[in-house]
Amino acid sequence: MAKKKRKVNTKRIAIVVMIPVICIALLIANFTSIRLSIKGYHKEDKKVVLKLEKEDIKDILDYDQIIDISKWDKVKNDAHYLLYDEYYRASKKSVKKVVYYIDSYYERMEDLNYLGYTSDILFKNSDIYTISNLDTLISANVPYKKAKKYLSIKGAQITDIKEYVASGLSPLKAVLQVSYPGIDSSKKDSRSYTIENPEDTLILIKNGFSVPSDYVPKDLRDVNIPYETEVGQMRDEAASALEKMYKDGLKQGYSIAVKSSYRSYETQLAVYNEYFAMYDAAYAASLVSIPGSSEHQCGLSVDLTSQSVLDGTYGTFGETPDYDWVEQNAYKYGFILRFPENAGDRTGATNEPWHFRYVGKEAAKEIYDKGWILEDYIEHHGFTYNLRLN
Ligand SMILES: [Zn+2]
Repeated sequence: MAKKKRKVNTKRIAIVVMIPVICIALLIANFTSIRLSIKGYHKEDKKVVLKLEKEDIKDILDYDQIIDISKWDKVKNDAHYLLYDEYYRASKKSVKKVVYYIDSYYERMEDLNYLGYTSDILFKNSDIYTISNLDTLISANVPYKKAKKYLSIKGAQITDIKEYVASGLSPLKAVLQVSYPGIDSSKKDSRSYTIENPEDTLILIKNGFSVPSDYVPKDLRDVNIPYETEVGQMRDEAASALEKMYKDGLKQGYSIAVKSSYRSYETQLAVYNEYFAMYDAAYAASLVSIPGSSEHQCGLSVDLTSQSVLDGTYGTFGETPDYDWVEQNAYKYGFILRFPENAGDRTGATNEPWHFRYVGKEAAKEIYDKGWILEDYIEHHGFTYNLRLN
C-alpha cells in the first residue's frame, strides 16, 4: 500500500515558527521596559527611550544616573540624551546651551575621538573647548597626546596649538611667548584678553588684559585708615594687609593715608572720558587706563598719600620719608610698587610712586627680592587663571 503523501502546510509552519519569535521579541521589549522602570524611568520618559536605537538604550540602561528625558525634550534636540546628561553634570550650563553644544559636538565626535579628544577630556574643560575651538583642533590636526602638555598650561589658547608644538619651547614658555607677548607693554600685540577669574590676587590687569565690565569684587569693604577725600574700599584681604601696614608704620613714625583705592568700571569710564575730552587721544591714553583694564577695578590696588602731604609739609607722596618706608616694607604685607620708575616701557604706565598693588606675601617677597615687576613674575611663573581671547 502506498504511503499517503502528507501535504506540507507552509502557512502553518510559518505561524508555528513566528509565534515564539514574536513572543521572545515581546518579552525582550517588555524586559527593556521593565528594566527602565526598575531604574526609575516613568512612563513618558520610557516611551521616548524605547524609540531610540538599541545601542543607545543599552547605554542608558548601563548609565549610573537617571536621565530626565522630558527636560531635554523641552527644546528641539537630536536625542543624544546620555551625552546631554553627562555634559550637563560636568559643565552646569543651561539646557539650551547643553543641547546646542552636544548636538554640535556630536557631528565632530568621530574626528575628535580619532585625535584622542574624548568626551571626558572635553567636558571637564568646557570653557576652553568651545565649538569653534573644536573646529580649530580638528583643522590643526594635533593629537591630544602631543597637545596635552600645552593645553594644561593656564592661559593656553587653542588657536595657537600648532605654533606651541612648532616652537620647540617648554610648554610654559611656548604659551607665554606665542600667545602673550603683550605681557610686556614694550612689545606691540594687537590681541586683547578677558581675565576669566578676576578674583585671583595675581591677576595681571593692564591694557590688553581686562576684567569683565560688570566685575565687582564680592568682598569689598571700607579700609580703616585715614583718607584724603573719601573713605577707600578694597577687597578684604588687601584691606586687612593695608591696615596692618598703616599700624606698623605709625609705630615707627610714618603715617600713610588712602588717596584712591577701588574704582568701579563706571567711575573709570567717567575718568577716561574726562581725560579724552581734555587732551588729545594719544596723550590721554598714556595717562589713563581703558575701563576694565585699570588696576583699581580689581580692588587690590591703592594710591597712597601721607599725613605729611595732607598737612602741606611735602608736595607729593614720592618725596616723603613715609614713601621710603613703604617702598622698603610693603612686600612684608603683600604689596608691591606696581609701576616703578625704571620699568615704564614694560608696565605701560609712567612712574607712579603712590600706586601699590596687593599680590599676597609670597609673590610680593619674590618680586621685591629679585627686583622684579609683576610682568616678570608672570613671565616666570605663568598665569594662575584662564584668559579668553577677545
Ligand atoms: Zn593708582
